[in-house]
Amino acid sequence: MRARLRRDFPPEFGSVIGNDLLGDITTYRHSDSRRRDFHLLERFPARLVSVGDAVASVNPIYGQGMSSAALHGAALASFLRSHPDLSSPAREFFDLQRVVVDAAWQTSTSADLALPHVDGPYPRGYRLTRWLSGQIMSASITDRAVSQRFDAVTTMLSHPSTLATPGVVLRAVRANLRARGQG
Ligand SMILES: Cc1cc2nc3c(=O)[nH]c(=O)nc-3n(C[C@H](O)[C@H](O)[C@H](O)COP(=O)(O)OP(=O)(O)OC[C@H]3O[C@@H](n4cnc5c(N)ncnc54)[C@H](O)[C@@H]3O)c2cc1C
Repeated sequence: MRARLRRDFPPEFGSVIGNDLLGDITTYRHSDSRRRDFHLLERFPARLVSVGDAVASVNPIYGQGMSSAALHGAALASFLRSHPDLSSPAREFFDLQRVVVDAAWQTSTSADLALPHVDGPYPRGYRLTRWLSGQIMSASITDRAVSQRFDAVTTMLSHPSTLATPGVVLRAVRANLRARGQG
């Protein structure tokens, strides 16, 4: 772990690992990320919904599982407040929930795809997405505004699309050039 932190991550990680460890290194197990697309089912019982990890469980390293589950709860509250017909399947709820699941899935699986031991399959446009997220992640170390936006997405307070605006990308590229002494 010490070697990887020095070799594979930004220099700040190498500096941190040079200090004393407060405890043993603890590992975790997560065999795969998995989502179940209830919204695609043609037949589904009324008065039944599914939330949390039962719908989508993603790599816990990104800390999204509980935020995601809480947002499923918020989606259910919105659905129930809209006076739905409870004798029909809760399709409007699953549509609301899908926005949350897509956001968590996009953030965590694109980060997983960048891991050194993962070799695909890569989705279309992956190289561009990888370049964009690399710019944002590097800039989040030196630029406070980019860091705040990035944190808001990883903690699911904002949608990932808020990072893909020209203004944010330009700011990130400039911050990275400045950090390398080229801007
Ligand atoms: C190692 C690890 C670290 C994580 N770290 C974070 C983090 O830092 N931040 C974050 O947001 N998320 C984190 N997560 C993810 C988070 O724990 C989950 O996303 C979240 O707990 C999902 O909530 P849930 O209610 O859907 O499922 P769960 O919390 O798994 O609850 C399901 C419950 O149902 C019970 N159950 C199962 N089967 C039955 C049955 N047949 N009958 C009755 N009860 C049953 C289980 O015992 C359990 O209590 C982590 C996950 C792991 C594994």
